[in-house]
Amino acid sequence: MDENSAELQQSLNSLYDELVEKSQTYIGYPNSQLLDNHNLSPFLNLTINNVGDPFVGNNGMNTFQQEKELLEFFGNLLKLETNDLWGYVTNGGTEGNLFGLYLARERYPDGVVFFSEESHYSLNKVVKILGLKCCIIPSQGHGEIDYSELSRSIKSLQHYPVIMNANIGTTMKGAIDNIDKIKQVLKENQISRSYLHCDGALFGTMLPLLEGAPRVDFSCGIDSIAISGHKFFGSPIPCGVVLTRKTNTHFIQNTVQYINSFDSTVSGSRDGFSVLILWQVMKKLGVQGLKDRALDCLKMTDYTLRSLRKISWPAWCNPNSNIVVIKKPTLPLIKKWHLATENNISHVILMPGIDRKKIDLFVEDLNLLKNVRPLRGEFSCFRERLYENPISNCL
Ligand SMILES: *Cc1c(COP(=O)(O)O)cnc(C)c1O
Repeated sequence: MDENSAELQQSLNSLYDELVEKSQTYIGYPNSQLLDNHNLSPFLNLTINNVGDPFVGNNGMNTFQQEKELLEFFGNLLKLETNDLWGYVTNGGTEGNLFGLYLARERYPDGVVFFSEESHYSLNKVVKILGLKCCIIPSQGHGEIDYSELSRSIKSLQHYPVIMNANIGTTMKGAIDNIDKIKQVLKENQISRSYLHCDGALFGTMLPLLEGAPRVDFSCGIDSIAISGHKFFGSPIPCGVVLTRKTNTHFIQNTVQYINSFDSTVSGSRDGFSVLILWQVMKKLGVQGLKDRALDCLKMTDYTLRSLRKISWPAWCNPNSNIVVIKKPTLPLIKKWHLATENNISHVILMPGIDRKKIDLFVEDLNLLKNVRPLRGEFSCFRERLYENPISNCL
């Protein structure tokens, strides 16, 4: 090794150590920590590019076969027949939301997008990029959209097509917008032109795996769904999956001679390596393995809630969610544990790979902050009735 490469290796080593150190207390953002991709490293020295439509192919080196298998697996989970399915592996949930609402706009150029104030911040950006009008609907305290407010707004814009974004797990509180209630609102207001997109970045794959969880899939009449791959499935490279009915894509397909494919995706050149990462998770775990993982997350959620109760730290959780909302601790702890924080609340997300030992250390840290505990009733968002044992929903 010459001096230069020794130096390079040294800085990589110290970066690696620093990141590993941080990962020890990483419990505030929804990334699965169970990653095992060493066997894929040879693929990093190949120029894989999934440019174009996975169902059409391209002229280069790609992982389209694995991408199609992965999409069909998601289609199966989300009750979308293979011959009716279209989708692709995206750069993440944001691109999936952009793509879903792009399809909606091509179908209804004068449509108005409705989404709740608890929606992910990507929705505002997507609506701006697409030049769509939007209407932001208030949420209920626990994060679910307020259906009477939704109805009132839709009524006042009755002559426009409705492009609805339903949150299948809000980012901060893990609340699920109810598809049946949304459809009821559309019916009551006699909306005949509508498009229903689901932002299922985190819960999109988890809900179908949990017994007794609300059904959110294509059999409920949704048009598209965006899911993040680096969240529940787990990937060191941010990625995601977007699925839609094939008929929704009729407005967007352009043939491109240069790549010998259809240009039906948002990006041109597209990551074919993260396809392999997701495909490998699917192959290794299968539906049963993923079900076990989802259940483990809810068990850990339950454990976390009980531990926080023991030290009287205000905490609650929506049903079927692995997001525990807590009273915001002090800044040093927010930093140390990477806690996403908004106003007076923070959250912990019990993703695959977070174990009791880690939660015990976190709770210990909180317990040292005795003097900043709120008085009873100080935080109105911590309502007792929202504490439900999430496990009881999936046995
Ligand atoms: C994480 C998340 C997103 C954004 O996904 P990225 O993969 O970070 O682009 C969108 N919506 C919700 C509800 C999320 O939790």
